[in-house]
Amino acid sequence: MLLNEALPQKVADWITTGILKGKSLNPQIFIQDKLPLDWWKKNKDAITLKDKVYLRNPISLENPNRMKLLFHELIHVRQFSTIGFFWWMNYIFDATQIEAEAYRESHDWTLKYLIDFPQYALNLRNLAGDEPGHRCGLQ
Ligand SMILES: [Zn+2]
Repeated sequence: MLLNEALPQKVADWITTGILKGKSLNPQIFIQDKLPLDWWKKNKDAITLKDKVYLRNPISLENPNRMKLLFHELIHVRQFSTIGFFWWMNYIFDATQIEAEAYRESHDWTLKYLIDFPQYALNLRNLAGDEPGHRCGLQ
């Protein structure tokens, strides 16, 4: 599903303007038990392939860690659109740099999300730490 089908329109717009920097990348979100490349790295909660974001758990607007993982994967969508083929080479051989950017940026976007959408910040105990096994597929 598209961002504005997976999320309230105002949150989808906030993501498009901010995280996706206004690019019309139209990422698609898939929520499913079995993720692509599970044979390669099965201990992951999400993976992004080009403009497709696969999440093992449903999106929860009131769970900052889930939102952070979504933001992280959407940053990968933007990275892919910018560096294309070379991103893929990094993706396969050395994800260190793109992961560092995605983790740093998704952390900042999560704090901004909690400020811009205080109505979803009700469940702040979720900020206590990452859920066990909360990993992007590239780690
Ligand atoms: Zn990642």
